[in-house]
Amino acid sequence: MVRGRKQSSMIEKEHICNIMENYEKGKITIGTLGSHSALNIFKGAKEEGFRTVCVCKKENEMIYRRFPLADEIVIVKDFECLLDDNVQKRLRQLNTILVPHGSFNAYLDMDEILNKLYVPMFGNRKLLRWEIDRELQRKWLQRAGLKVPKRFKDASEIDGLAIAKFPGAKGGKGYFLVNSSESFYDKAEYMIKRGHSTPEELENTYLQEYVVGVNVYPQYFHSIFKNEVELLGMDKRYESTVDGIGRIPALEQLQIRIIPTYTIVGNIPITVRERLLQQILKMGDNVVKVSQEIAPPGIIGPFCLETVITDNLEIFTFEISARIVAGSNVGIGTSPYAYLKYGEGMYMGRRIAREIKNGIGNGELDKIIL
Ligand code: AMP
Repeated sequence: MVRGRKQSSMIEKEHICNIMENYEKGKITIGTLGSHSALNIFKGAKEEGFRTVCVCKKENEMIYRRFPLADEIVIVKDFECLLDDNVQKRLRQLNTILVPHGSFNAYLDMDEILNKLYVPMFGNRKLLRWEIDRELQRKWLQRAGLKVPKRFKDASEIDGLAIAKFPGAKGGKGYFLVNSSESFYDKAEYMIKRGHSTPEELENTYLQEYVVGVNVYPQYFHSIFKNEVELLGMDKRYESTVDGIGRIPALEQLQIRIIPTYTIVGNIPITVRERLLQQILKMGDNVVKVSQEIAPPGIIGPFCLETVITDNLEIFTFEISARIVAGSNVGIGTSPYAYLKYGEGMYMGRRIAREIKNGIGNGELDKIIL
C-alpha cells in the first residue's frame, strides 16, 4: 500500500473543512480504529442514526462481527495503515468522521496524524500532542490549578515512594514502585528481564511521586455548542498484577518476590461521595479553560482526568486524556452521572454522536472537527 506523503507541516483546519464541504451531510458515517472504545463509539453512533466504519486488523475482525455494530469493516495489516492513501480515500468516500481514542496515540505516530491524516476528526487534534508529552500535560494541569504529584528528574532525587513509568509502557505495563535510587536500578533490571521494557527506555523513565490513595477517573464531555462541561461517568482501573496482590498473604508475597506492575485489564464503575463532585466539576471546567488558551479552541468533546484521592480527600491528578477513554466503556447504556444529567441511555459514544448530529443540524460541523 502507498503511504500518503503530501506535506510535512500540520494540516490546516481550512483543508479539513474543505474535505467536509464535499461530504454528503445526509450520509455521514462515524469511524474509528477497531480497538479501545470502538464498540462504545459505534453503539452510540448507531443509536443516533449514523452508519459506522471500523478500520480493523484481520486478527480482531471477529470482535466487530460478533457485536454487529460496524456497518463497514476496512481490514488493514496494522493500525498505521490508517494513513495509507487508499484507506484515507475509502474513508472520505464513506463521508467518515473519525473519532480518535487511546489506540491512535499508542499505535500511530503523532506527527503522522497531525500531518498526513486527511480525514476529518472529531475533536481538537492539536491537543493530542499535549496528551502524549508528560511534561506538557503537567504544565497544563498545573496552570489549571490542579494538584499534581511531584516529579523526580533523576533517580538520585527519589526521597519517598515513587512510581517509575517507562516511556514505551502502554496501559501501565512495566510501571513499578521504588523508594530509592538503588531500588530503581534493581527493579528496572528485573522489568527489562521480564520483557516489560528495554535498556534504552531506562534513560527516559518518568519518575513521579506515588500518591497513596484510591484511583478515581472522572469522564467529562465539553460541548462547544452548549458551552458546558458535562460529567458523564467515573471508573477505576483493574490492573494486573497490583490489584491481585491483596489475594496473596504477605509472607508468600515476600517469599516469591512479587514486583507488581500496572497492566490495565479492565475498568470498574464507581461513584464518589457527593461532596467531592463540586471539586471534580471545577477541575473539569478549569482544564477546559486552559486548553482554550494553549490550543484554541480547546477541548472538544470527551476527556478524562486520572486522579488519586487521599484520605484527606485531596485530589491529585497524574494524567489527562484529551479524548474518549476506555474507562467510559463502563457507562455503555448509561452511568449514574449520565443518568442524572440525561436520564436513560446516554454514554460517551452516544454523546459524541449526538454532538456530531447537532453540528450537522445547525450547520456548525466545522466547530467540532479538526
Ligand atoms: P497511567 O498509565 O499513568 O494511567 O498509570 C497507570 C496506573 O498507575 C494508574 O491507573 C494508577 O494505578 C497508577 N499510577 C500512575 N501514576 C500514579 C501516581 N502518581 N500515584 C499513584 N498511582 C499512580
